Amino acid sequence: MIEADTPADGKPTPAEADRPAEQAAPAPQLSACRLALSEAIAIAPSIPDIHGAGGCGGEDLVRLEAVVLPDRHLVQVKPAAILRCAMASAIADWVRTDIAPLAASLGSTVTDLDNFDSFECRGRNRVVGAPLSEHGRANALDVRSFKLANGRSISLTDRTVSRDLRETVLHSVCARFSTVLGPGSDWYHEDHIHLDLMGRHNDYRICQWNVWDPLPPIAPLLPAERPDQAPPREVAKSDAAKPEAAPDPAEPDADAKPQTNKPTTKKRQ
Ligand SMILES: [Zn+2]
Repeated sequence: MIEADTPADGKPTPAEADRPAEQAAPAPQLSACRLALSEAIAIAPSIPDIHGAGGCGGEDLVRLEAVVLPDRHLVQVKPAAILRCAMASAIADWVRTDIAPLAASLGSTVTDLDNFDSFECRGRNRVVGAPLSEHGRANALDVRSFKLANGRSISLTDRTVSRDLRETVLHSVCARFSTVLGPGSDWYHEDHIHLDLMGRHNDYRICQWNVWDPLPPIAPLLPAERPDQAPPREVAKSDAAKPEAAPDPAEPDADAKPQTNKPTTKKRQ
């Protein structure tokens, strides 16, 4: 639980309650969202509007640094996320209302949200020329995991995390966000969940996240034991004749993706 780390330079941290300097910047008219996203809800100072090329950017932007739980504990957003106020507010509400009780059901509290990507001026899935991603409109957040005070990390796409728990999160986000993309949606979201508030006709929503079954604890490639009634094993000459046989253990895992290095810095949609 991080409540207020005090940096060596003595500068006030986001966790400190009163930040009049931050409030002064956006000045004249604060949006209803801005007024509602108080420091009781989130540490989310306003930042200047961004008007970038190709429609990138937005107004009423905030830097979401932490969500303040009802019990006043902070969930640090790491790194802080640049978001439209409405999206920041939706994230804060999600963490406060759904994720915090989920962590409590596991006997702990949430301390960190692992932000994989927020504002970034680019096309969908980083495809040049593709329609502007909601990330380019500061209307999207890619979440990889939550960290708990007990040291445990809940990776939302990790098959070893209880299926019930992942399904609970799935139902939670699909009820709250108009776009949810996770594993199974395309090749770009196997290691994180994309959330955004894209507005569509008739409130059309996209909820594409397949909660995969856990992997078996032991790789199933080799039969456990050869049955007594099995015919004598033919060695050497049946290589080509048995395509269904277990792969050579020296070969790469049959399930492995062509690209083996995890795209830890590539983020999509
Ligand atoms: Zn995304």
